[in-house]
Amino acid sequence: MAKRRIWIEDGCIHCGWCQHLVPAVFVAADDGTRIVGTARQDGITSNNRSERSPLRAGRLPTDEIDFMPFVADGCPARVIHLDGWSGLGVADPALAPSRANQHPSQGVATPA
Ligand code: SF4
Repeated sequence: MAKRRIWIEDGCIHCGWCQHLVPAVFVAADDGTRIVGTARQDGITSNNRSERSPLRAGRLPTDEIDFMPFVADGCPARVIHLDGWSGLGVADPALAPSRANQHPSQGVATPA
């Protein structure tokens, strides 16, 4: 697997969308969403902004990895940054239909 990195910029509005969809990667904190340490090579739980630690290979199922651009596209604050995905910006809700219909703040997930 190519090295893939996720980090969270300033401006998270704590809507819960990312954690709701991929709790193995995103976790809410008082100062904004963090990337869970168990999903990262460095094992640190933080926004990963300065570390830019790659995801731990084999830690996430392939469908979760493929789903990540959809999660980033759906972030209302546009603060989820991905590095290493070739399909960035191509949102495909069909990748995880059971979860994509459950936006915690709006009830429906339909990011453009
Ligand atoms: S989807 Fe974006 S705004 Fe919402 S909790 Fe996650 S990082 Fe914050």
